[in-house]
Amino acid sequence: MHAADTNRYRRHVRFAHCACDGPRYGRPTGPPRPAAFLDRDGVVNVDFGYVRHVRDWQWMHGARAGIEWLKAHGYWVIVVTNQSAIARGLATEPQVLALHDWVLAHARVDAIYHCRHLPHDPCPARKPQSGMLQVAGQDFAIDWGRSFLVGDRDTDIEAAQNANIPGLLSAGDDWRGLVRDYVSRRTS
Ligand SMILES: [Mg+2]
Ligand SMILES: [Zn+2]
Repeated sequence: MHAADTNRYRRHVRFAHCACDGPRYGRPTGPPRPAAFLDRDGVVNVDFGYVRHVRDWQWMHGARAGIEWLKAHGYWVIVVTNQSAIARGLATEPQVLALHDWVLAHARVDAIYHCRHLPHDPCPARKPQSGMLQVAGQDFAIDWGRSFLVGDRDTDIEAAQNANIPGLLSAGDDWRGLVRDYVSRRTS
């Protein structure tokens, strides 16, 4: 699935990656673009709890259209998701990566990073820490001054704050209006 593995420095290959051990490439190139970081469960897909199979995946209303809108407006679209299901033994890492590869095939997301750890594990990638965002910044040339995060939990917003970018708190429904309002306020 990972065609990128055969060409480590090919750019703009979309990928799923565990952020706990660092970046996938670590060589951002090209002009910086703003990034829209999206939480996964409750933002991209309906949060049924430990979603790990395609059969349990249900897109949030408006999510795919929102992702299209972000791409049309020049954003990297980067999903950052805590997946402690792996540490809990409820999912394997290959299962999670396979699901994320499927998501990449069905929406114009640039990358999906996950953290496999438990809340109290000493991993800087796990939200509310900002490690996953920092790792993304090692793979993608990011204009941090125009970047933001959309999440449905306080820990998402804290992760954004820890990366010094705004966090938009979604009520767990269609977040397109939230994003459009934010972007138009920023640019007006
Ligand atoms: Mg969530
Ligand atoms: Zn981790």
